[in-house]
Amino acid sequence: MGAAAAVASTLVVMKASASAPVSANSTVAARQRFFGADNVDPSTGEVDPSKTILSWFGVTNFAMAIAGNIVLLDAWVPRGAFSDYVPTGPAELAALAPSHILIGHGHFDHAADAAEIASLCGATIVGTDEHCNQIVQQAATELRTFPLDSDRSDFSLPNGVAVHTVRHLHSALRAPRGEHHEASRHRSF
Ligand SMILES: [Zn+2]
Repeated sequence: MGAAAAVASTLVVMKASASAPVSANSTVAARQRFFGADNVDPSTGEVDPSKTILSWFGVTNFAMAIAGNIVLLDAWVPRGAFSDYVPTGPAELAALAPSHILIGHGHFDHAADAAEIASLCGATIVGTDEHCNQIVQQAATELRTFPLDSDRSDFSLPNGVAVHTVRHLHSALRAPRGEHHEASRHRSF
């Protein structure tokens, strides 16, 4: 009951802060589609807090339900030659009402829909300074951002979810702490 109440109030807060509020009905429908109808409370939209569920929507893009939190890991829906390969779009991802969008790196196939999704649902963008600045510039509305330290930042989501972030080589020309002596051989762009 406590968890359900917390999620319900979280949804209210997100609706209040979003520039274009998502309706509760569209959030329930989107969450049922991504996380399975059996895992979503049809009245509150809460996803079963005892489960962690990852739902893939292209490249390394996932919608994740964890301990009742909803976050996006990267934010781009395949299009162009791959349109409808994954049948969703920024509006449905916004309807999931994620609290955070965690940016793995700034290339288009990981970040290009982040500004639109965050503008619609009010999610906080989490990434490097460069990622946050790039996405803010693409947005038509003011966005909330959580820029990470150049090396590492830790933060928490509700219900005891600890997030540890580490800068990885795909985004960095120099190895974070010098441990990766053969970094140049493994670098990929
Ligand atoms: Zn890349």
